[in-house]
Amino acid sequence: MLKTDPYWWEDFAAVDDQPTELPADCDVVVVGAGLTGCSAALTFAKASKSVVLLDAQRPGYGASTRNGGMIGGGYRLSLAEMAAKYGPENANRLLVESHIDSLEFAVSRIKDEGIACDYHQYGRFRGQWNKAEYDETARGLDDLRKLVPVNIDMVPPEKQHAEIGSDLYSGGMLLHDHGGVHPGKYLNGMLKAAVRAGAKVFGNTLVTDVTPAGSGFSVTTDQGVIRAGAVLMATNGYTTWDFPKLKRRMIPVSSFLIATEELPEGMVDELMPARRMCVETRNRHCYFRLSPDSKRLVLGGRAAMNKVSAVRSAKVLQGLLAEIFPQTKSLKLTHSWTGQTGFTFSFMPQISQFGGVWHAMGYSGSGNAMAPYLGHKAALQLMGDPAGETAFSQTTLETRFWYQKTPWFLPFAHQLYRLKDIRDDWRRAR
Ligand SMILES: Cc1cc2nc3c(=O)[nH]c(=O)nc-3n(C[C@H](O)[C@H](O)[C@H](O)COP(=O)(O)OP(=O)(O)OC[C@H]3O[C@@H](n4cnc5c(N)ncnc54)[C@H](O)[C@@H]3O)c2cc1C
Repeated sequence: MLKTDPYWWEDFAAVDDQPTELPADCDVVVVGAGLTGCSAALTFAKASKSVVLLDAQRPGYGASTRNGGMIGGGYRLSLAEMAAKYGPENANRLLVESHIDSLEFAVSRIKDEGIACDYHQYGRFRGQWNKAEYDETARGLDDLRKLVPVNIDMVPPEKQHAEIGSDLYSGGMLLHDHGGVHPGKYLNGMLKAAVRAGAKVFGNTLVTDVTPAGSGFSVTTDQGVIRAGAVLMATNGYTTWDFPKLKRRMIPVSSFLIATEELPEGMVDELMPARRMCVETRNRHCYFRLSPDSKRLVLGGRAAMNKVSAVRSAKVLQGLLAEIFPQTKSLKLTHSWTGQTGFTFSFMPQISQFGGVWHAMGYSGSGNAMAPYLGHKAALQLMGDPAGETAFSQTTLETRFWYQKTPWFLPFAHQLYRLKDIRDDWRRAR
């Protein structure tokens, strides 16, 4: 039977021995126990702050244990778009932080904290959708190299089969420094590191309000009230309407994944000869990889932008998998699940504060490197440490007048993207 919990949850143990009663007060409350919140809690605890990490569900319930496990840098906006919006100097800093600093930080956190999360620097293959796009990307890479010391090469179509056993792409880009993790183990390791350092973690604790009280804040939860010197919101795509100012700036776009049964003998080498993490440039944005034990394929993509059933999304994703690798057509699926990314209108994350309440969020579809990085940076800033300085304090967290109560526009966006898919197919066929 098709399981609808993430494949990663098979190997994702809860943290034991947590206190059961909320403390009356603490230095900092962190809301949301995903990668952002756990990393922030770890930094606070290491600085000897009393920190309480709260999650409405079990810690790690959100995107951090549901994702594709690809870890790397880079952002959705081009340099020109970032420069137009945030100025050339900030754009350059954003580029360096997103391509280099965030990944270096996340990998060092994995190593320093001894997080056993099957991290490996597999390299990421980004399949180009057609020849014109390949040429344009190659030119863009030359420009990028002048600004950032990136470790990236183009893979021409005639060499593609050394990377991936698919004919769907017209060559690709190989991002050597990118890697893969087991998301369940990654989150769990980060959480355990925070607990080891002294953070107190409470699951099943929904934060419903944060109001100024004296020199700090009163944090109301469905389990009681805590007085905190400071509060950091780390709720990304799972932000609730209890916090309308943030919620109206975070668009919860669903992403969907499937895991196959174990592949038959020889198929792993045939399909994934170089064991890369793989993504593509068409608007479908399929991302796929082998499971860390190299036995199954895990593929994610846009089955819809709104919520659809796991059975329906499995069907769409299996069709996409068979388009990439026709040999997988008759493979059985074991898992089909979904999670919410936190998109922003600017496609950039941000660290800032509203009314003295800090936030770090808005990763817009990636975050395995950026979330721990910005969680750490936010914690440092909040403690007044100059090392917390980051260009992601200069980005914008915008809203639109028409996003008031629900993301009613997502089904329409889905239809728009279906048209883009048709255009992509047409562009490739030419
Ligand atoms: C399906 C999918 C695939 C993805 N694939 C990749 C990938 O391959 N590589 C990559 O880099 N990124 C990927 N991402 C993005 C990445 O997973 C996220 O950017 C990252 O995990 C965000 O971490 P976070 O800690 O900010 O948020 P989350 O992990 O989403 O955690 C937020 C937490 O806040 C809690 N919460 C919300 N409101 C409240 C409240 N009021 N009170 C208490 N708790 C609350 C939620 O319960 C949740 O646990 C993917 C995302 C999805 C959904």
